[in-house]
Amino acid sequence: RSGLMDKIVALCKRRGFIFQNSEIYGGLNGFWDYGPLGTELKRNVRNAWYDDMVSRHDPLDAPEGAPQAFSMVGVETSIIMHPQVWKCSGHFDLFVDKMVDCREAKKRYRFDHIKGRWIEGQVKDPGAETKTKRKLFITAVADGDELEAALTQRALKIFEMRSKDADKLQWQSDPTSFVTISQSDYVNVLAPDATAPGTLTEPRDFNLMFKTIIGALGTADDTAYLRPETAQGIFVNFKNVCDSTRVKVPFGICQVGKSFRNEITPRNFTFRSREFEQMEIEFFCHPAESQAWYTYWRNRRYAWYTSLGIKSDKLILREHAADELSHYSCGTADIEYAFPFLDEGEYGELEGIAHRGDFDLRSHMEGKLKNENGQLVVEKDADGNPRHRGSGKDLTYFDDATRERFTPHVVEPSAGADRGTLAFLCEAYHEDEAPDDKGQMQTRVVMKFHPRLAPIKVAVFPLLKKDGHPEAAKEIYRDLRSAGIATTYDEQAAIGKRYRRQDEIGTPWCITVDGDTAKDGTVTLRDRDSLEQVRIPVKEVTPEIQRRLRG
Ligand code: ATP
Repeated sequence: RSGLMDKIVALCKRRGFIFQNSEIYGGLNGFWDYGPLGTELKRNVRNAWYDDMVSRHDPLDAPEGAPQAFSMVGVETSIIMHPQVWKCSGHFDLFVDKMVDCREAKKRYRFDHIKGRWIEGQVKDPGAETKTKRKLFITAVADGDELEAALTQRALKIFEMRSKDADKLQWQSDPTSFVTISQSDYVNVLAPDATAPGTLTEPRDFNLMFKTIIGALGTADDTAYLRPETAQGIFVNFKNVCDSTRVKVPFGICQVGKSFRNEITPRNFTFRSREFEQMEIEFFCHPAESQAWYTYWRNRRYAWYTSLGIKSDKLILREHAADELSHYSCGTADIEYAFPFLDEGEYGELEGIAHRGDFDLRSHMEGKLKNENGQLVVEKDADGNPRHRGSGKDLTYFDDATRERFTPHVVEPSAGADRGTLAFLCEAYHEDEAPDDKGQMQTRVVMKFHPRLAPIKVAVFPLLKKDGHPEAAKEIYRDLRSAGIATTYDEQAAIGKRYRRQDEIGTPWCITVDGDTAKDGTVTLRDRDSLEQVRIPVKEVTPEIQRRLRG
């Protein structure tokens, strides 16, 4: 499975989907750049989300499975917000990961990524002629333990080496995997909730928000944060949206935008990055109906991924157990995908759908403070009155029809645009067999993107660089582009090679102009997945592609 991931990462670089950020300077861990094709792919993911959730949403009719008709609107809010937003949202106090430092390797790790296990092996003790059985405890920080076998081998080697060179007790191959061997033959047990003395510091809290400074003075009072989620920009504008539009509860506010988290161990390609993009909906509804809306959004968001080509055997909807839920949440489900960098049977989160109750609006009204149990509660003064360090603004909603005032409950489907894009890339990757120019069967790499997501929809080729083929092909190419269809033109190399180039970037259809085009006014239309080739009239090319794109 990790071999498959390597192929996908290599293809992303080779064909310009995703590059390492600042690569010519050695890269910057946790940051990625999208190349020309990746930019188109991610834009298509984002647009599919925004079109399906907002632009094409019909507020007059209840969609299938929805309790009633509702509105969906968009906002685009700033990355930097008033620092008080993060105090009231809980991010200032609670948005932390557990971290440990490895003193010897001078590295930091996210605590839940540390795995340890006993291994047994035959090793030569210092000065000994023969090997004896020894037990070692290795702590490993590795992606899904994919290095299990190699790790064990290396640990044993180091164990042998110890006598010769004490400095080499530590082995470290790359930033995501490392092994420590303790000073004694029988090493300390490192239980998941304990630390190995002398090797790792105690786990401690690390706030994931990036800090920055506003203005020229740069005092501590000028500290601000890059948003770790787009959601708060929606909550603080709830009243503005209600007052400036004619939306009525239930309705949703949607936002796509960058978020930043100072992840301790960014890894697995773009899956866990420090800068990433989110696609979030805050859906405001009456408390009595919130459970029904939670169920609706959970199902609808799952169906969105399958409608864009993710097979349901690789996608799960995992309902959180009661002890996993935040204290304010009545339900949370994750949509998870079987990424190739994970072990068989493991899944990685693409999107979380959370029932958040009235927690967020109430926090921004009243202000919250962390209590001794680590929970956010309304801060009270000595007389027991709320201290109102929130906005103090009324974020309740008045329903004209029922004459009822209430604080809406919120259902939040929160998706990652980069994780979604990565899942669509992984799902698209296929290898099969197809004939080359000489009719020989060859392995073909083909990205089977859903046509809505494919960076390029059509490639137009002249069979020859003469006999009027290029002129006719260019006319078709321009016609498709003027219809707003992402089209490319290619006249370099043999036709089979050109097909292969398009297969590898997932172009669903190729059009070829040949000798018959001038005679009967037809061209070849080739389908990426079935390899089927049909002749269609030149004037039918654009309408036919439009028809196929509509599905
Ligand atoms: P995880 O447990 O993987 O850190 P999370 O539960 O903290 O994720 P949320 O806060 O629910 O994530 O964020 C919503 C979505 O934003 C996630 O489902 C994911 O798609 C995306 N996301 C969160 N953190 C990252 C990251 N570091 N890199 C890329 N995408 C991310």
